Amino acid sequence: MAKYKISVAKGDGIGPEIMDAVLSIFDAAKVDIEYEFVEMGKDVFLKGFNAGMTLEAERSIESNGILFKGPMETPKGKGMKSINVTARKKWSTFANKRRFQTLNGVETVYSKAGIPIDITIIRENIEGTYGGIEHLNTHDVALCRRFITRPGSAQVHRFAFELARRNGNKTVVCGHKANIMKITDGMFLETFYEVAKDYPDIEAKDVIIDDLCMKLVVRPNEYEVVVLTNLQGDIVSDLCAGLVGGLGFAPSANIGERISIFEAVHGTAPDIAGKNIANPTSLLLSGIMLLRHLGFFTQADAIENSLLYTLETGVHTGDFGDKSIPAANTTEFAQAIINNLGKLPSNTTPRKSPAIDYTWQKPVFPEKQPMMVTPKKGEEKLIGADFFVETELLAGDIAAKVQPIVPEGFELVMISNRGTQVWPVGSIFTECVDHYRVRIATKDQTATDLNKIFEIAAKVGELFYVSSVEMLRNYGDLQGYSLAQGQ
Ligand code: NAD
Repeated sequence: MAKYKISVAKGDGIGPEIMDAVLSIFDAAKVDIEYEFVEMGKDVFLKGFNAGMTLEAERSIESNGILFKGPMETPKGKGMKSINVTARKKWSTFANKRRFQTLNGVETVYSKAGIPIDITIIRENIEGTYGGIEHLNTHDVALCRRFITRPGSAQVHRFAFELARRNGNKTVVCGHKANIMKITDGMFLETFYEVAKDYPDIEAKDVIIDDLCMKLVVRPNEYEVVVLTNLQGDIVSDLCAGLVGGLGFAPSANIGERISIFEAVHGTAPDIAGKNIANPTSLLLSGIMLLRHLGFFTQADAIENSLLYTLETGVHTGDFGDKSIPAANTTEFAQAIINNLGKLPSNTTPRKSPAIDYTWQKPVFPEKQPMMVTPKKGEEKLIGADFFVETELLAGDIAAKVQPIVPEGFELVMISNRGTQVWPVGSIFTECVDHYRVRIATKDQTATDLNKIFEIAAKVGELFYVSSVEMLRNYGDLQGYSLAQGQ
């Protein structure tokens, strides 16, 4: 009996070709894993399974705790949600880990300049705009809710520091936009430094996301581990893929407390599917991450060193490498790696997994949905609400209509349009749309209750269409809402 059983979904397009190639390399390296093949992807969607996976597939993954998957296609225009995002979210794979490293034989401007790159990006994988909570508030105005949570941030930060410690990295950098998004990215950043206190051996630094992008391009060799929120992490990951030669060389692991998913980051490449010419490197590198996750360090090192050696000798598939050397097809590329098992690269330091005592534990099946909460820091006080209303009136006219319905003890604090204050003062140059935020709060920030807010909402609703109401709440000393630009 094999040491572990994992679920494998070959995927669509080039998926089966590259997965077969990778598993043939695993077999040659005597990886002691049993594969349970499961049905996921386009055909499963077309059979009527809206999540793109059969119930047997779900059961297999939830029981094994590991899914190794090829790229998959979500049928377009049928209102189906991406299978990849669904899988990551429903199984709480909160950290997306992608390692970008210089590979010999993969020529880039940095490799030519002799600048080595080895950056691991840890992207928060559940929250942010990927919650996919969007609303059309008026005909002209679309909104997306962006969630950042304290427990979710702490989880991903801790993962980044643990990884850095295990791999002997000296720094972890947090990328953010907390200078603008003070509450959401502010929470991500604050949590980063709170978690960092538990890792005094690792230097914790933060960089504003735009500056980070520039610095990664100018001096990529100065970064080791970078932790980011979801969308920012998605963008920076692809930037880093570009630094090392493109998505074909970018492995990806989605790590959760119980279930983890390992996959190539490129798509199904329908243009070359079925031709046996796809490059299996990205999936192989993801597979190497999987092997290390399960503790197969010797096999992971052997396969990675063989891959590096093979690339060094000039063997390449058609999508990269020295065009004067004929391209190998997928099977030939995999065979070259198999033939080179045991060899070490000479132009780069051979890979050696950190010598740690580690045994992967098969996940415990949860009895109920886990609830993540952190200790509260102060008294919570509701002091008012922002009413988002639809109207083409100008701010002064809105104020004139709203003032009479503001109850005793409350005041109309301000009106903003697209986040910019337009009342009580504003600029004549501010271009407006038909969607205003009307802030009504208690005078002197005294506490109120939800009944009172709903009473006010009903009155505002008699004047305008109210598309949403957002509470104004303070948490101890912390103000739980942002000010308008210019307020
Ligand atoms: P793609 O990555 O499939 O292809 C982009 C280009 O890169 C194509 O020219 C393709 O031939 C090439 N390419 C990609 N992988 C390659 C490889 N391993 N070897 C050689 N060349 C390779 O991106 P796309 O065309 O935008 O997407 C195609 C489909 O894949 C879509 O249905 C999309 O939704 C899906 N997709 C899936 C995943 C995933 O499963 N994780 C990720 C991205 C896209």
